[in-house]
Parts: sequence; C-alpha cells; structure tokens
Amino acid sequence: MKKKIIIGILCLWILTLLLFLYKETIQKNTSYELETIIQETENTVQSITKAKTKDSKLNREITKYIEEKQEEFLDFTKNKTSLYLLEREEFNIDTNIFETKEYLSVTMMTYQNGPSFSVPSNEIKTILWNTKKRRKSTIQDFLRSKDSLEPLRQEVFSLFEKECPHCLNSERFKQEFGEDSTSFFLTSTGFSFTVNPSLLQEDYHDYLIVSLPKKNPYLFYPEEKEEKEEDSQPETKKRVIDPSLPSIALTFDDGPSPYTEEILKILEENEVNATFFILGNKVTTYKEILKKSVANGNELGNHSYNHQWLSRLSTKELEKQIDQTQEILQKEIHYTPTFLRPTYGSTNRRITKNSHLEIALWTVDTKDWRIRNPDRIVLRATHNIKDFDIILMHDTYERSKDALKKIIPNLKKQGFQLVTLSELQEIKKIREYIKDASLNP
Ligand code: ZN
Repeated sequence: MKKKIIIGILCLWILTLLLFLYKETIQKNTSYELETIIQETENTVQSITKAKTKDSKLNREITKYIEEKQEEFLDFTKNKTSLYLLEREEFNIDTNIFETKEYLSVTMMTYQNGPSFSVPSNEIKTILWNTKKRRKSTIQDFLRSKDSLEPLRQEVFSLFEKECPHCLNSERFKQEFGEDSTSFFLTSTGFSFTVNPSLLQEDYHDYLIVSLPKKNPYLFYPEEKEEKEEDSQPETKKRVIDPSLPSIALTFDDGPSPYTEEILKILEENEVNATFFILGNKVTTYKEILKKSVANGNELGNHSYNHQWLSRLSTKELEKQIDQTQEILQKEIHYTPTFLRPTYGSTNRRITKNSHLEIALWTVDTKDWRIRNPDRIVLRATHNIKDFDIILMHDTYERSKDALKKIIPNLKKQGFQLVTLSELQEIKKIREYIKDASLNP
C-alpha cells in the first residue's frame, strides 16, 4: 500500500516536472511575458497587466510608468468618499506587445473610472524599445530625411481625419507630432500611430489608431536598411495594407510548377499578394521563380519535401520532411518560412510539436484539384467569403490559373483586401488591439 502511494507521488512529481519543462520551452520562444495583478481595497480596485521582458532596463521603464500612473490615481481618489457606498474607484492598465526583428513596442492603456471621475479617463503610452541598442526610439530614428517629418505629419493627420472627421485637435497634434514619442510604434506590417483621447474633441473617448505600410516615402522600416546591406532577401514592392478592411488570404499548395510564373504575373497585375506552400524538392528547379515571388511581396510556406502524408510518418521522417525544405529554401534563396501546411491538411500533436513552425490550414477549399471547370472554381472561391477566410488553391493546374484571373477582381469588388498569411495574422492582432483599446475595460 505504502509503495503504491510513493509511486503515485513520484508519478505526479515527474508529471509536474514535465509540464514545467514544457512551459519553459514555450516561453523561450518569446522575449516577454504578460502578468496580471489585481489589487483590491475597500475603496479601490486595480487591475494591471504588465509586461516582463528579457531586458531589465526596459522592465524598469515599464515599472516606472505604471507606478507613476498608480500614484496619480491614488492621489486623485484619496480622501474622496463615495455617496454610493458600493462604487469603488477603478484603475486598469492593459498591455499589448508588438515584436519585430530589433524592436519591442510595448503599448500600455490606462483606464480610470469611479465616483471621483466625471468621465472615464483613458490614456495610451507606447515604449518603442530598440532591443539591440537597449534604448527608447522615436519617429526621428526612422525618418528618411529631416524634411520627411512635415509631409509625414500631414499624411498621418489625413489618415486620422479619414478615421474620425474633425475629431482631432489639429493645433495640438501639430505641436506634439514627432515630439511625443509615446504615440508611435512598429508592427510587422509597418508603422502605427495613436492619439490619446486628450488630443481629441471632448465627446470622443476612444483611442484612434492608424497605420502606414512598411514601404512609404517618409519612414525607413528597420529591416529595410539591413536587407540592402546584406543584399540577401530581395526587396519587396510597395503595397498599402489597411488593417481596417475585410481581409482574406489566397494560398497555393504543391508548387512551384510551370504555371507559377503566370500566377505571379496575375497577382502582380492586380497588386495583391498570396502565400505559396511549396515542396522542398522543387526549390532548386524553380529557384528564380521563388526569388521573384518573394521580391513581389508574396510569402512562402513549408508543405513538406515531397508531399508525403506527414501525419503517417515517424517523428524522425516527419522532421526530415520539414527540415530539408527549410534548409533548401535557406540555402537557395535565403528564405525561412514560418508556416507549415501539413499535406492533406492532416495534422496531429506530433506534427505541431516537432515542426517548430506554425500550422496553417484553410477555411475555404476551392477543390481545384478535382473540379475541371474554371468557372466552378471561381464560384467556390468567391461565394460566401468572409473576413479572415483562408482560401486553398493549387498553383499546379492551368484551370486554377485561369480561375484566378476572375477570382481576384471578384473578391476585390466585394471589398476584400488580399494579403499574405503573416499579414492576415498581423491585421487580426491590430484589430484585437484596437477593439481592446476602445472597449477597455
Ligand atoms: Zn498538397
């Protein structure tokens, strides 16, 4: 009996240890954690979601800001007794982080409300942190030239005006733009600008957020400079992505093939981008086409080395299928995919665990591998399509190429913006962020 208990305890202990190790490996992949602390007293309730990064210097900046805000709040609400005994003073800080190659954008939204406040108080602050130089950055660090600031300000102002006509106090905006580093941050699709409600007309209490694409005439996206120096990843073309538009991703599997080049041309003519899940064994043959695809702004994903049924393979074989494809893409065109689309859309825990890539399936199957009539493919790709749909096609059939010529204009006419999978993810993130900001809490 005693033995059984001991074995039981031992098993439990091992299980806890394994879980702990598993958690550790997950956390290793990101350079920050978010932690929420709730403090309640008789008169106040505080909920603070705080970022803990790997950089102690940045952590101190974050803590300093939060403590300042907390102190202000406690000062403001001190000695005020509520007529309504049940109502408490509320203080809330929510944090979002956007991570790019060299920067962490930590955005903190403070919301205060309660008996002491005539209207809820909102504030947004961003710390744009250069993780290499370990210091704060401002717009000034990204300007193409000194003369870029004024046209940039006008452009951003007109974007805000479009978002909310006559909401912004233009004089104050003019004064603070470029000075106030707290309203500017980087995402993986470009630059974002925010305005605090204090800069807005009195009856407007939300935040405003607008975005500019990576390629724009005023600002340098940080990776852009490096790419030129290294001369490795080909330059991407200018394209404007608006996170507020309904967005979908076109994806093509099993290529490249003799049809890929023409598909690239169709995408280019329509000024849209797509994601291609490619097979490793085709990379060398179609090296130039893949380079062009990336140069045009398209994204490449991993679809195994030679289309074996991944979920049926041993772990070792499975890893080989994925790794070989990553390696050959790196070697031939200096490209590293971040998504894996398992063959036949068949996935399992082993694939998720061993691939080190994000699994990307689809929501709309055009069945172009089976349907021979291009018009029926068009119908499947354009009927009942909704925001954030991921459409599956193949760049290995002539009929798919023919259908695409009609699919893109049709989707555009329906108001959709066609983006890559990474862009789609980023749009989702920005939208959630905006939603959080305006619903907070
Ligand atoms: Zn396939």
